[in-house]
Amino acid sequence: MSAPPAPVRPDPYALGVAGLAALLGDQPRYRAEQVHRWLVRGVDDPAEMTDLPVALRDRLRELLPPPPRVLRRTTADGGLTLKVLLECGGGEAVESVLMLYPARATGGGRATAGGPAAKPSAGRATVCVSTQAGCAMGCPFCATGQAGFRGQLSLGEVVRQVTVMQRLLAEGELDLPEAVAAQLPRHVTNVVFMGMGEPLANLDATVGAVRWLAGRDGQGSGFGLSARSVTVSTVGLVPGIRRLADLGLPITLAVSLHAPDDELRDDLVPVNRQHPLPELLDACREYRGRTGRRLTFEYVLIDGINASVDQARRLARLVRGLGAHVNLIPMNPTPAVPWRAPSGNAQHAFLDTLREAGVAATIRRNRGSDIDAACGQLYADYALASGRILPTAVGAAQRVGSAAAARPDG
Ligand code: SF4
Repeated sequence: MSAPPAPVRPDPYALGVAGLAALLGDQPRYRAEQVHRWLVRGVDDPAEMTDLPVALRDRLRELLPPPPRVLRRTTADGGLTLKVLLECGGGEAVESVLMLYPARATGGGRATAGGPAAKPSAGRATVCVSTQAGCAMGCPFCATGQAGFRGQLSLGEVVRQVTVMQRLLAEGELDLPEAVAAQLPRHVTNVVFMGMGEPLANLDATVGAVRWLAGRDGQGSGFGLSARSVTVSTVGLVPGIRRLADLGLPITLAVSLHAPDDELRDDLVPVNRQHPLPELLDACREYRGRTGRRLTFEYVLIDGINASVDQARRLARLVRGLGAHVNLIPMNPTPAVPWRAPSGNAQHAFLDTLREAGVAATIRRNRGSDIDAACGQLYADYALASGRILPTAVGAAQRVGSAAAARPDG
């Protein structure tokens, strides 16, 4: 007879202080608060929770799952972008990125992408988290889409991506010149749900993680971020947008549009066939009305596919009046996808067309492009190197490319 399966150990991040207290049973509540404080600081190995009695640390090691490992760590942008590949359940790996923006004490910076000169600012430390291992949405320009869907992350696996970075920041383990490190915060200031996966296709974990990071439950649990510092990105899952609005937290919603009409969007963002643009834009309007937050639209610029001046005009007509900001993202080279970003001149022509039509827009510089910081790419390289997946995007990219070339404005 085979041995009974090992009991599933609880996710310590999902427990909160009350759940930890219940798990510890006979221990006074302040012990649960101590454990929770360690978790918030990025310490999830009970052996390192040095203010707990040794016997309790041993007991926690039996009760909680073993801490996942950091599989790979790479830096770019002079150390200001750090990308880590983290082990998660079921032998999968997910990536997260820490993007550091040192404080600027004075103005006088150069204007960027046609925008105003840089103003003095406080430093920022933004973590980009993944919510799924892989992704089922199948956008043909995306490295994660190539790898397919392999599993949902738990609330703890999402939150832990932030606390791992928090620990590196707090402990100064960033390998930066002292003068630069001095201009950085010691605490994560922003979290964006823009890594691998579609956050609203893993709704419970995403909503739980948002609450953990930015909720106010009055019990000292959670990470203490301002809700305004949290951004959830989606390709447009309308029921999820409505559920996010129900949270009553003013988090920023970033919607990936990538096309100015349903015909092209059906190809570039296949979920558009379930939730076409009129339905999606209605949900966006409702989200703005209920939360009071300005919307962001993301638009990856792909040469010869969606980046013509005529497409910029049509995009402007679509989003004008929504009070949204459009982020233009020149496409990052992606393994096995033949598409590229348009020239600098073409990018600026697209930007100027939007602005002339009264739409607030900027071109976003790709942080860490030299370490593949675009969505899903570190994982793609890792998986390809280890022979675990094969790229499947070539056929899809060719199909969309031919369809775009056949259109009058392609
Ligand atoms: S762009 Fe986002 S939604 Fe589309 S396949 Fe990639 S990870 Fe999934």
